[in-house]
Amino acid sequence: MAYGNVKERDYYEVLGVSKNATNDELKKAYRRLALKYHPDKNPGDKEAEQKFKEAANAYKVLSDPEKRKMYDLRGQAGLEDMGFHGFESSSDIFSSFGDIFGDIFGKRFYRERGGPQRGSDLRHNMTISFTDAALGCEKQLRFTKNEACEACKGTGAKNGASTVCSQCNGTGHISRQQKPVGGFFTISNPCLNCNGSGRKIGNPCNNCNGEGRISKARSLSVKIPVGIRDGATLRLSGQGEAGIRGGSAGDLYICVNTAPHPYFERRGLDIQYDAVVHFTKAALGGEIEIPTLSGKAMLKIPKCTQSNQTLRMTGQGIKTKDGRKGNQLVRIIVDMPKKLSAKQEELLIELDKLEDD
Ligand SMILES: [Zn+2]
Ligand SMILES: [Zn+2]
Repeated sequence: MAYGNVKERDYYEVLGVSKNATNDELKKAYRRLALKYHPDKNPGDKEAEQKFKEAANAYKVLSDPEKRKMYDLRGQAGLEDMGFHGFESSSDIFSSFGDIFGDIFGKRFYRERGGPQRGSDLRHNMTISFTDAALGCEKQLRFTKNEACEACKGTGAKNGASTVCSQCNGTGHISRQQKPVGGFFTISNPCLNCNGSGRKIGNPCNNCNGEGRISKARSLSVKIPVGIRDGATLRLSGQGEAGIRGGSAGDLYICVNTAPHPYFERRGLDIQYDAVVHFTKAALGGEIEIPTLSGKAMLKIPKCTQSNQTLRMTGQGIKTKDGRKGNQLVRIIVDMPKKLSAKQEELLIELDKLEDD
């Protein structure tokens, strides 16, 4: 997946070229690998498919001067900042690099293009409160997405009626033989009459103007897990855009940001809180009321508590579903009075005398 944390191999290493490889060298290297690991040659071989994608991603980046410059400078992180995502499927690769595969993979390329296409992934950001992140919650997400038109069941044709394209006989591509030096070869081009779909719509559907998909406002209830980290991404499989010509739907990615809390801070599953305690209470000990994630609790202050000393409220932090429990950590800030009354001063002088003894 494009958003996974799989560490990618160095792109130059993948293609087996030097850092100063020319565009021609890159193209040759990529063609060689694409031939070797092509899905048609390695049916059902997951490793070959992975290598096929890896080579395509390497070529996609290095053949683009801007992306290559960024990659040389900052590697994968730089590409991510540019919003670069690798290929998701072999058919994406065919539709991007059809010109490279040319006569070799031409047929497959156009067949794939005319066939079902997976819907696009969607990405949304959501900001939730600190407490919602700590305790978990359910949120409504409102967004628009392309969905299959109900009136024509996604075909784009009125009453679902379409006919085989007469120009390409339903193959979606037009082949032409050429005779250069050294023998014949065939060039395939997508059929312009049917946009490579192989079907011709006689009467376009009124509901979607023949697109087969329409943009719809959606509202989705999203369960946010307990203790979610700031910036974590949730993936909702199949909730992205509808596929084309019966292809599967894309996924929905939700990036969840957490708003800061006025007085709590997260430390993993622990909650950090600063409590201001009057100097006499810090010295004599006592109880103070502390806000917690679930409300309030009383905290015992031992005698002679120092400023910056941290007291632990066991189990008052984040409680995960799998039974782990964080604590609330209370840092004591001893509050010195800004002014003293005559009586207080008198008592403190007494105290001071005691300390000297
Ligand atoms: Zn329609
Ligand atoms: Zn056609």
